[in-house]
Amino acid sequence: MATMIIEGERTSAASGKTYEVRNPATGEVVDKVPSGGPADVDKAAQAAHKTFATWSKLPANQRREILHKAAQHMLGKVEEIATILTKEQGKTILESRLEARRFGENIAWFADLADKIHGQHVKLPDTTTYGLVVRKPIGVCGAIVPWNFPLTLAANKVAPAIAAGNTVVLKPASTTPLSTLACIEALIEGGLPEGVVNVVLGQATGEAIVEHPLIRKIALTGSTPTGKRVMAKAAEQLKKVTLELGGSDPCIVLDDADLEGAARAISVGRFFNCGQQCLSTKRLYVQEGVYDALMEKLIARASKLKPGNGLDKDTRMGPMHSETQRAEVEAQIKDAIDRGAKVLYGGGRPKGAEYEKGWFIEPTILGDVPDGARMWTEEVFGPALPVRKIKDLDEGIRLGNDTPFGLGSSIWTSNMAAAYRAVQELEAGYTWVNALVIAHDELPFGGTKQSGFGKEHGVEAFLQYTEEKSVVYGGVG
Ligand code: NAD
Repeated sequence: MATMIIEGERTSAASGKTYEVRNPATGEVVDKVPSGGPADVDKAAQAAHKTFATWSKLPANQRREILHKAAQHMLGKVEEIATILTKEQGKTILESRLEARRFGENIAWFADLADKIHGQHVKLPDTTTYGLVVRKPIGVCGAIVPWNFPLTLAANKVAPAIAAGNTVVLKPASTTPLSTLACIEALIEGGLPEGVVNVVLGQATGEAIVEHPLIRKIALTGSTPTGKRVMAKAAEQLKKVTLELGGSDPCIVLDDADLEGAARAISVGRFFNCGQQCLSTKRLYVQEGVYDALMEKLIARASKLKPGNGLDKDTRMGPMHSETQRAEVEAQIKDAIDRGAKVLYGGGRPKGAEYEKGWFIEPTILGDVPDGARMWTEEVFGPALPVRKIKDLDEGIRLGNDTPFGLGSSIWTSNMAAAYRAVQELEAGYTWVNALVIAHDELPFGGTKQSGFGKEHGVEAFLQYTEEKSVVYGGVG
């Protein structure tokens, strides 16, 4: 049975309760896990608080070296961790390997910043004094993670937090705790001191993290409704929050676009991870002149995405993560079809005995999806793409912005003026121009509107795990 990681201990829940983690492809039990609650969060927060006193005081270059060594050790276990991730999450083993590798790389990327971010020296009008701006870590940080990219999204929070000298209480999604535990164990085996990252498990630990007075900052990736609840709760103690929430990213393809490149990017953007991505291609607007040609290319790509168990090397798309998630996407597809959308590809479940025990669904492309359909107004968190013809860029930008979300966006065109307008006018935290929807460590990533605020990735993320303090030194002149 898996255990929580709290300082030097590997513990069950204080309540003794457990639950089962099941494989979304087969329904089989992968492991039993403690179902923690407020008492476990309290223990983890106390441990993180105690460790903060030593971890935050280590010379920054030593923190950098410890984190590099730990990341290297973890990266030696990618294959083992990727298998666990596929079993609990459902994604293909190829996707799991990429994700497990990203975890270690992210720790290493932020490790390099540990001793590179400086404060400032400030001249003051009274020359017998001078000012300093010093950057300090915040303290204990809470990291709350969803199930779609359990490792990437944990690393996005843990890596900058601990590189800056904070300690962490980490809560994976209740259905994907095992690969996260394996990553943190690997970091500890590789030399990360016990207590720097503590892992609590179970649904109830999320709220308890937000409420715990020793936890000074909350970083959440999750749905927009969860973000609103967390922000309201965190406000009671005026905690800092970073919220990475839902998205409904538009993609605009103009008549002068490289259609082969666009089709590849849209296919990866919509179907990678069985469509369960925050940054994704969730609404497609295609200029009339290239609509048919682009649909042909997209359909050809979708038809190659063989659904199956993620551990099978021929599988190109795993199952959806849960029955509820699949039911939600199927309801959104049905709503569009009932309103008159055309099924261009997929639209149902793959047939065959091998699909009966898992939450499989076909990659789906729907054309002429009418205004008002749920696929336009809600986040579609699965492999289903609504498409609509547009007359021109104006219409594309208007429709693209017609959403409460503002996470990502893309445009495909060879007209640089059109691309520039899209970059200026699309309301989103990221715009890709003729490029694959991939987030880069170097670029700050985060949403606008109801997709949240605060940044992960980049120097900006590191800064958000520090506080500035102004200091005046007197009597020096
Ligand atoms: P979710 O909001 O249901 O859960 C996310 C995490 O929050 C889980 O660990 C959950 O246990 C915890 N949680 C739930 N209620 C809580 C509360 N009241 N207090 C504290 N913690 C609580 O999301 P999900 O279904 O696991 O993930 C899918 C959602 O996440 C989608 O909307 C997706 O777009 C979003 N997401 C956003 C990004 C991003 O970077 N913007 C990335 C990935 C996923």
